[in-house]
Amino acid sequence: MNEKTSSLSQRQPDNGDRAIKREPRAPLVFDVYVSPRGPLLEGLASMAKKRKETITQLNDEKTAHAATKEALEMALAEKNRLVEELTAQRLVVAGMIHDLKTPLTVIIGYSELVEKEYGQKIGNAADRMTKIMACMQDFFRAEGGMLKVRPQKIDVGEDLRVMVELMHYIADEKRVTLKVAADKPVCAWADPHILHHVVINLVGNGIKYNRENGIVTVSVAEKDGSAIISVSDNGIGIPANDLPFIFDPYHRVEGNKGIEGSGLGLMVVKKFTEIMGGTVSVESELGKGSAFTVTLPGVPTET
Ligand code: ADP
Repeated sequence: MNEKTSSLSQRQPDNGDRAIKREPRAPLVFDVYVSPRGPLLEGLASMAKKRKETITQLNDEKTAHAATKEALEMALAEKNRLVEELTAQRLVVAGMIHDLKTPLTVIIGYSELVEKEYGQKIGNAADRMTKIMACMQDFFRAEGGMLKVRPQKIDVGEDLRVMVELMHYIADEKRVTLKVAADKPVCAWADPHILHHVVINLVGNGIKYNRENGIVTVSVAEKDGSAIISVSDNGIGIPANDLPFIFDPYHRVEGNKGIEGSGLGLMVVKKFTEIMGGTVSVESELGKGSAFTVTLPGVPTET
């Protein structure tokens, strides 16, 4: 027997009397916790599951967020494209309006040489076209945020008289009477040029949607420091169903389609009134007439 064998045999367990008999020990707390069904392992497994769920949820949210971001970027790009297109269109229209002014001035000039009655008619029509074009030009400027509003102290009654005077020939053609009721001086803080567009549109409608021998009355009064302009008529009136939409672009009363119009005049009135810090409202009864009320700010006290 060599040395290696001998040393191995020395380590053999002693199965003799001296052998230690091991009793099975009671499970330790640790064993209970880490056993395959123990609370610690179960807890760890549930934490791992929760973590996995959270990661999946986060990934889903990340994907949804990326999709939303992409959709927003696309919408923004589309908006920018539309704004650019609109600006380009506005520039084209503004250019066309500008170009039309020259031939119109020529027509107005020559109308003075034509026989009095016809010449005046041509001149009036050309003058009206000039006003419509100026109104459109200012509206496009306002839409593009380029309209310079220059409010000043104005005597509204006086201004109304001048504006309404320019509309008499249209009223006469329709056999409608135009009246201005402005006994007391009423001052407002407004841009006379922009107010002109407002009044011309409202009085124009009062005449257009009237009947023979109808009346359009323009009045002004002061209330709580504001100037209240009223343009009322005893014309065809507006159906109650249409009233909430009457200032919307292109809204026209169904039965009035035979009367020439674009459905844009009242939208312009609203835009210009609000630009001056005012408001506009309407009351109407079908078959009896309409009353438009424009409220303008009074003159600030520090001026
Ligand atoms: P347009 O007169 O060019 O159609 P507006 O925006 O000025 O456009 O008016 C919108 C619509 O409101 C008109 O088509 C008409 O049906 C109605 N309307 C406006 N003013 C009056 C009024 N004074 N009397 C009756 N209807 C009116």
